[in-house]
Amino acid sequence: MSGGGIRPSMSFSDAARETLKNRTLRHNLGFATRTICSKREKVVAEIADWEQTRTAGSMLKDEALANLEENLLILEEKVVAAGGKVHWAATATQAVEIVAMIAKSHQVSKVVKVKSITSDEIELNDGLAAQGITALETDLAELICQLADDSPSHILVPAIHKNRDEIRALFEAKLGVRAETSEPAALAEIARTHLRQKFLEAKMAVSGANFAVAETGCIGVVESEGNGRMCLTLPEVLVTIMGIEKVLPKWEDVATLMRLLPRSSTAERMNPYTSIWTGVTPGDGPQEFHLILLDNGRTTVLADAVGRQTLRCIRCSACLNVCPVYQRTGGHAYGSVYPGPIGAILTPQLLGMEHKNANTLPFASSMCGACYEACPVKINIPEVLAYLRGKTAKNPAESSAFRAAFWMMSDHRRFSAALKGRRLGVSIVSGLGLVKGWTDSREMPEVPAESFRTWWSKRGQ
Ligand code: SF4
Repeated sequence: MSGGGIRPSMSFSDAARETLKNRTLRHNLGFATRTICSKREKVVAEIADWEQTRTAGSMLKDEALANLEENLLILEEKVVAAGGKVHWAATATQAVEIVAMIAKSHQVSKVVKVKSITSDEIELNDGLAAQGITALETDLAELICQLADDSPSHILVPAIHKNRDEIRALFEAKLGVRAETSEPAALAEIARTHLRQKFLEAKMAVSGANFAVAETGCIGVVESEGNGRMCLTLPEVLVTIMGIEKVLPKWEDVATLMRLLPRSSTAERMNPYTSIWTGVTPGDGPQEFHLILLDNGRTTVLADAVGRQTLRCIRCSACLNVCPVYQRTGGHAYGSVYPGPIGAILTPQLLGMEHKNANTLPFASSMCGACYEACPVKINIPEVLAYLRGKTAKNPAESSAFRAAFWMMSDHRRFSAALKGRRLGVSIVSGLGLVKGWTDSREMPEVPAESFRTWWSKRGQ
């Protein structure tokens, strides 16, 4: 399958049971995530005020979300004033229809695509194919997934589950070329040769967006390969599909975002290509620009006081790379183009907790908190996971326990008081069998005689 979508077809535990059998996958993932994590640690350590920058990033995203409607209306006004057209899509189906309508109005049967997880979310490729329009992925990893009829398994590195030899064999089988080696440079050269003519022939391109700025009406795409720049500049028509949460109020906000994003995603000080454009410029680049603003469940997430922090996400994928669950199961176990910790909170909120497979995703976590520490915009993923677990009605006792845990953990005074009474609490909980499902395969942890907080406060006296 290509494209992906966000509707898991089975529960996380059933899907993970399957993917865990694949030793090659675990080896590929372990190697790739360890490499990215160690590089990321080094480039993050270079910024002395990294924690303050994270705080600034989370605050600016919160402010943007608090005034989302106003920001989007200003953005629309600025894009239209610069010669672009703005479309509002409440659902995935509407967004696909708008793209198809634009393609048909130009008699276009083939479009080139910049890597866009939002387009994967709405299953754009399949939707266009159903209307006789072929969408060609031009990002190397997305192209690999498309040729393999496979779905992405990582936000940033969609083909992370495949190694070089697998990719070499795929290129030989699907592109009819002979690869001399499995070296990345040789494989990239094959893809480059394959894509070059497609770029030159394409009349229409489809992209996502890393951000849009309301006050200027500009749109930004951040990438590493240059394929995005080709798509964004060569075709006559450009269509950008953007989740509504990506809008930033001010141009100066881009500076904070760009300090956080490349270091957290590709572990680079700066990514190789940052394309920023405003509407249409006569004689330069696409002469028709359409911006599709996609809701697809986001306003429901925004209305939730706890869940709305999920919309801060800048899709850097740092939380995936540090997650011990993702590292072992891989992205396909999540059944959504949003895998890992962010997927475990975003997918069920976009679909609603009544979706019978998506509502298993908040349980795809050891609650170790590594995702929260890595997140450049400080999304408290464990807090949202506990909150969403509390919403599942599968087991009322477990649901009550998670609601209580969320209530207790969301206030430091309550948390301290709970720590003091934990010995008694653990005895009651165990004695009443309230966590029987949990303790079927685990020991109830020993409660130490003295907590760290107590020891610390005594030490300070
Ligand atoms: S949740 Fe945070 S760490 Fe994960 S992809 Fe989003 S911004 Fe990155």
